[in-house]
Amino acid sequence: METKSIATRIQNSGLFRTQGLIGGKWVDAYDGKTIKVNNPATGEIIAEVPYMGKRETNDAISSAYDAFNSWSKLTAAERSKYLREWYDLLMTHKEELAQLITLEQGKPLKDAMGEVTYGADFIEFFSEEAKRVYGDVIPATSSDRRLVVLKQPVGVVGAITPWNFPLAMITRKVGPALACGCTVVIKPSEFTPLTALAAAELALQAGIPQGVVNVVMGNAPDIGEALLSSTQVRKITFTGSTAVGKKLMAGAAGTVKKVSLELGGNAPCLVFDDADLDVAVKGTLAAKFRNSGQTCVCANRILVQEGIYEKFADAFLKAVQNLQVGDGFTEGVVQGPLINEAAVKKVESFVQDAISKGAKVLLGGKRHSLGLTFYEPTVVSDVKNEMLLAKEEVFGPVAPLLQFKTEEEAIRIANDTNAGLAAYIFTNNVQRTWRVSEALEYGLVGVNEGLISTEVAPFGGVKQSGLGREGSKYGIDEYLELKYVCFGDMNRK
Ligand code: ADP
Repeated sequence: METKSIATRIQNSGLFRTQGLIGGKWVDAYDGKTIKVNNPATGEIIAEVPYMGKRETNDAISSAYDAFNSWSKLTAAERSKYLREWYDLLMTHKEELAQLITLEQGKPLKDAMGEVTYGADFIEFFSEEAKRVYGDVIPATSSDRRLVVLKQPVGVVGAITPWNFPLAMITRKVGPALACGCTVVIKPSEFTPLTALAAAELALQAGIPQGVVNVVMGNAPDIGEALLSSTQVRKITFTGSTAVGKKLMAGAAGTVKKVSLELGGNAPCLVFDDADLDVAVKGTLAAKFRNSGQTCVCANRILVQEGIYEKFADAFLKAVQNLQVGDGFTEGVVQGPLINEAAVKKVESFVQDAISKGAKVLLGGKRHSLGLTFYEPTVVSDVKNEMLLAKEEVFGPVAPLLQFKTEEEAIRIANDTNAGLAAYIFTNNVQRTWRVSEALEYGLVGVNEGLISTEVAPFGGVKQSGLGREGSKYGIDEYLELKYVCFGDMNRK
């Protein structure tokens, strides 16, 4: 299918929104400036969206602040119904949303459909969780007192999201925020704003009141600065690079805001001698090549024990050889393009660095013959800890294989990084699964499983991979303040 015909189909469904959303109104940048959105699989321009900055963001913040007054005062059941309606609409429009994701992000349509379900599931989950925000009654230290803890919404939330999951990274922030009574200003990635805008359109169709959900995009540092400096914004929630996350954390100090950060990972994938080979290959393949390696939980270092190394490398290579690369709209394709030229250049430089330091390319190792930002699924062996491929997140379809001898060595290498988001282990030894899971300094661990994200479990990192958790019953705490209320003089008749 061509970019234009897909865009026309989505346009006919009313979900092709190309303006920002402020206070329930679709608006252009105040100075009329725009930014182009392109299809990474073809290079074609899909749309132009407003290049907004401080002024528009400040207006979005004011709208969210005004809306907070009434939205936070609704009953939990009322907010729950709005979220449920939004969820139903997201699922009704699953196909168009998935097409938008493939169009602007590049992932295969089947994966995009999966993202819509996964993304919508956060809205469904938090529509239910809205009704379970319980406080506490604390046994008092004196008989004439009653001590109560209330949980109240933090206020206006600034949600800054990346391009790799254009829908799900938004819903897992906005779902819990809205559920407990917060209002939001969303800043999606400028590479993938169309999915965010379509989701916002559906929020309006669900009847979510004007100003509760706002979307601005354009000059990221200016928008970030407006969100950080506003005293009305009480929380920043961010998914993206560690470098930008650190800037936001420092910037939030000026107004002492709550901050949740979901930053880069450097996921180790440990394959032990006693692993089931098929399970390990299948799990590692999924953990590495999902979204062409462009997720923060993608296996970044595949550590294989010496006894199974050769067998694993052979079987893994064969599996990677079968990955079909192409336009995400083409049937059978499982590897789309990378998001842009800068992403390919980064992958190229990491592979070059590894080769220059003695690594061997077993498969791929270069741009794909399809051109543009397509890169061949790649397997590199003899990777060492000092290579960029092992030290930093490659965020592309490159699988580095490292060899280890003992469990202790594997754990030491796995933890020898500032990142701490996801880790994977493959072994059939029950005691080892517990021992290693507990020893890994990571927020998530997959045991004999490469795909572990779900809305019902807490997602988030330790060390420099972030702060806070998203999803699950824990995810809503990030948007709540505790208030202790002490009732005195309670024995008076
Ligand atoms: P990635 O490398 O995955 O694109 P980024 O951290 O650059 O990660 O981007 C994630 C999100 O952060 C995007 O929405 C981007 O526009 C936004 N962003 C980038 N720089 C800033 C900044 N200085 N202030 C606020 N947001 C920013």
